[in-house]
Amino acid sequence: MIPVKGYAGQKVAVLGLGRSGLATARALAAGGAEALLWDDSPEARAKAEAEGFTCTDLTRQAAFDGVAALITSPGIPHLYPNPNKVIARALEAGVPVDNDIGLFFRSFATPEWDNFETTPRVVCITGSNGKSTTTALIHHILQVAGRPTQMAGNIGRGVLDIDAAEDGEVVVLELSSYQTDLARSLTPDIAVFTNLSPDHLDRHAGMGGYFAAKRRLFAEGGPDRAIVGVDEVEGRFLANQLSEGPQDDRVIRISSGSKLEGFGWSVFARKGFLAEWRRGKQVASIDLREVAGLPGAHNHQNACAAYAACRSLGIAPRLIEGALQSFAGLPHRSQIVGEKAGVRFINDSKATNVDSAAKALQAFGKIRWIAGGMGKDGGIAALQPFLGSVVKAYLIGHSARDFALQLGDTPHEICETMERAVARATAEAQAGEVVLLAPAAASFDQYPNFEKRGDDFAAQVKALL
Ligand code: ADP
Repeated sequence: MIPVKGYAGQKVAVLGLGRSGLATARALAAGGAEALLWDDSPEARAKAEAEGFTCTDLTRQAAFDGVAALITSPGIPHLYPNPNKVIARALEAGVPVDNDIGLFFRSFATPEWDNFETTPRVVCITGSNGKSTTTALIHHILQVAGRPTQMAGNIGRGVLDIDAAEDGEVVVLELSSYQTDLARSLTPDIAVFTNLSPDHLDRHAGMGGYFAAKRRLFAEGGPDRAIVGVDEVEGRFLANQLSEGPQDDRVIRISSGSKLEGFGWSVFARKGFLAEWRRGKQVASIDLREVAGLPGAHNHQNACAAYAACRSLGIAPRLIEGALQSFAGLPHRSQIVGEKAGVRFINDSKATNVDSAAKALQAFGKIRWIAGGMGKDGGIAALQPFLGSVVKAYLIGHSARDFALQLGDTPHEICETMERAVARATAEAQAGEVVLLAPAAASFDQYPNFEKRGDDFAAQVKALL
């Protein structure tokens, strides 16, 4: 745990008692603060009370009298579409609103670091897609390289839950736009921006607000090294703002698809090969085509981002190459869950919208595609350009019939359930094809969450093989 600094003997309010809220309460208490906890849900309050905390109704009129700060959870709106009523009250009272990420950055360094040979460092990853994969990949490469490392944030543990840093430790944090928008202290040593596509626009009042929230990761004094995906105009703008000119190597530009040769430092992937360029010369290259845990151009973008972060930390290209080969991939994201008679079974249950499903459909050649669930506005109309690789679709869930209408000439079959879809696809698949779960829909009609849907797919595959 990282005890929170700067609030000893003071009252600090904590709103939202999920995983990160409870970790925050413990870390505040360890730092000598008095934590005043609240959650609208009685179950969440009961859980906190069972741990020995007392809850205080923060919705009361005078709740913020004498309170030094309010720490909130990422799921709770702080500005748009409307601030939560407790946050609104703190804003009116002028009480600083922060989150666990802000507390982490003000509390992480300790006097003990003066005796360390290598100062601990923090790498933060943000972007619309690929955050978790890039974060896990950096963590994996560091482990293979024998560097002390911990992974937290939106993935794994809450940030205040991690252990105090060892000599030379690298903490890898995945940060969402909600988290970067609010943290009052945000000072990573290395910051990564993967890409940008519309998401969570209601929470940021549109694309400008969404981009502005992510850019804060690069704002406060600036990280020593910024790794920026330049495949969208926002990334190119950010890289431009952060550098003195094209040769400024504090910025490493990354791309999946574009040759970036005229810069001080760049890493890009084209036709399955990753290339690192410095000052007009290629210094390393890696064949990504057979890296099983990172299929598709979208994952090659993640590989470029992770490679650049690890190069910034002084890890050699060949060591990174070996570590890419042993990366198993994250569950439910283009994850291989089985192989038989030349047919691979891929679980991309996290592809809950058309954007991520489009990436998955582009990542493989001949696809037996399992799709459907709770479709989003517009269904799968936007996937039309990517259906060329689909041999046949097997449709499940609430939106199966709507999806069937939008598939047009693409062969398809309504299967209703995962069990039937996997059985039908497996029976018809030929060697060289993949059976891909990339639903382009939420899971809530048939499952509690996308993880359970992916687990079901994997279990059905296992049963059949
Ligand atoms: P995040 O943490 O940003 O949601 P994940 O790594 O969990 O990202 O991946 C989420 C979904 O997006 C998965 O379906 C995955 O296959 C897809 N994806 C992963 N990396 C990228 C990328 N670089 N660009 C676009 N889509 C991606």
